[in-house]
Amino acid sequence: MIADNLQRIINELPSEISLVAVSKYHTEAEILEAYSAGQRAFGESRPQDFARKAAALPPDIEWHFIGHLQTNKLKMVLPHASIVESVDSAHLLREIDKWGRAAGRTVNVLLEMHIAAEETKQGLHEEEILDILFNASSYPAVRICGLMGMATNTDDAETVRADFGRIRAHFDYLRDLFPEYTEFRQLSIGMSSDWRIALEFSPTEVRLGTAIFG
Ligand SMILES: *Cc1c(COP(=O)(O)O)cnc(C)c1O
Repeated sequence: MIADNLQRIINELPSEISLVAVSKYHTEAEILEAYSAGQRAFGESRPQDFARKAAALPPDIEWHFIGHLQTNKLKMVLPHASIVESVDSAHLLREIDKWGRAAGRTVNVLLEMHIAAEETKQGLHEEEILDILFNASSYPAVRICGLMGMATNTDDAETVRADFGRIRAHFDYLRDLFPEYTEFRQLSIGMSSDWRIALEFSPTEVRLGTAIFG
């Protein structure tokens, strides 16, 4: 079933858009089922689960951390992360940079932009993102690869379109403003309930959990 779900999604997803399989509520056996079907990028949102699964599963899996990351959990997450998609504060970015410098590594990140109507959702505001990029040279051990966002959790497609439209517009604005920052080119939007709407905004990546794993 996981393999069938994956196949249907891949058939529908334009080939230039990457698929992150969000395995956060799922077992290692289920992840291996998707792996056997060819999936290599997986997303996890809890540091403990992330570290455990990354240590136990095949080394060619590309692990994306997509949840809220507390600075006291960096050591658990960063050694295994191919990218942290959920940087939601300048403080966290500074701490990731410190870790990277100490480890002699450059850490790939996306900045999580607050686009949903709900108060509870994490994320940076437009001007905070702008500020971080103006000061990008103060984070030498971090590679800021783009933006991630989660739309309002609603059945109303127009609300979701407005959210995705805002992040797409800010992404384009920043790319124009910082053409020298060539690594800034990823836009991660779209989850199981709204990825077809996200496709209208040309993301580079979608993150699907339920649609793959049920
Ligand atoms: C859980 C989660 C997803 C996937 O959600 P589904 O609705 O299961 O597709 C995507 N992105 C983030 C940041 C998540 O936390």
